[in-house]
Amino acid sequence: MTGRFISELEVAIQAVATASVLCRNVQAAIATDAIEKKDKSPVTIADYVCQGIVSHLLHEAFPNDPLIGEEDVEELRQDSQKPYVDAALIELAKLNLDWKADRNALLDSIARGGAAGFSSRFWTLDPVDGTKGFLRKEQYAISLALIVDGVIEVGVLGCPNLPEKGVDPILATGSKDPGVMLVAMRGGNGAYTIPLDDISQRHPIRVSSVTDPAQMKFCESVESGHSAHDHSATVAKTLGISAPSIRLDSQAKYGVLARGEAEIYLRLPTRKGYKEKIWDHAGGVIVIEEAGGVVTDIDGKPLDFTHGRELLKNRGIVASNGPVHQQIIDLIPSLGLDN
Ligand code: AMP
Ligand code: MG
Repeated sequence: MTGRFISELEVAIQAVATASVLCRNVQAAIATDAIEKKDKSPVTIADYVCQGIVSHLLHEAFPNDPLIGEEDVEELRQDSQKPYVDAALIELAKLNLDWKADRNALLDSIARGGAAGFSSRFWTLDPVDGTKGFLRKEQYAISLALIVDGVIEVGVLGCPNLPEKGVDPILATGSKDPGVMLVAMRGGNGAYTIPLDDISQRHPIRVSSVTDPAQMKFCESVESGHSAHDHSATVAKTLGISAPSIRLDSQAKYGVLARGEAEIYLRLPTRKGYKEKIWDHAGGVIVIEEAGGVVTDIDGKPLDFTHGRELLKNRGIVASNGPVHQQIIDLIPSLGLDN
């Protein structure tokens, strides 16, 4: 790959690879009843360390770049969070990085990931996207993107539980499959997968070439609160799709689409006024676009990354390999979404 942002891409790959190892370690230790107990602590620890590591590595390489990360440092400084920050430090130490952070260094690094709003050049990070999937030991992603003048220039998705090929949402913990990263840099460079156990490799990927809607597969969130399953079933039926939806947590959906294992990703709003967060999409969107696919909101508008933390001017998401994109946009008004 060549381009203006090649060194940014390399730093992002390194940062997300490190964060992926951390997530894998933490996830392996999650109690099987964590979901039932609504125990968010493992994901909290992973969130903190991931944002700390990525923020630190970006700051070393590009000290002037702001980072809009999901984690809020104000919350971290509260006494109630102390056990999680302590546990985060233990996980960080296990990684044996050159960076030997104490509590203040970790908090400062996470805090640097708390940029408030839009600037001409910034990074955005979801340290653990797909919290529910992470806790269920299914799919989750570490998503990092560089946005310059409102354009996503670099995107890296770490998907430690996504096999190199195939859509297996439940990759057993301890499995030999190393998981993958999906990466892209704007400018017709294409998109690539990188196995997490050898980040020197680059395998080009491409969206599916299927044009017949009847042969298409679509993916959506596992959580019905994040995307309206009933309406997406109507879209699929209208297009003549007979295969059941592929439900995956996190931006792994973008990855699956980018490598041609599904043709459509629908994220139809479930409630009025919800604004998508930039870190839930930026990394995945550029991977799809460089793999030859299309991403818009449900009105067919391009995603607008110039409004700070949220996609304020967009609603919902439609991503596809192209051929039926406009057809999907055209039939959305008939769904009667109440927002
Ligand atoms: P997914 O794993 O694709 O279901 O998406 C996970 C992301 O959904 C989280 O990172 C949240 O930021 C986001 N989210 C939370 N509530 C909603 C909602 N009502 N509609 C759409 N996305 C949401
Ligand atoms: Mg997220």
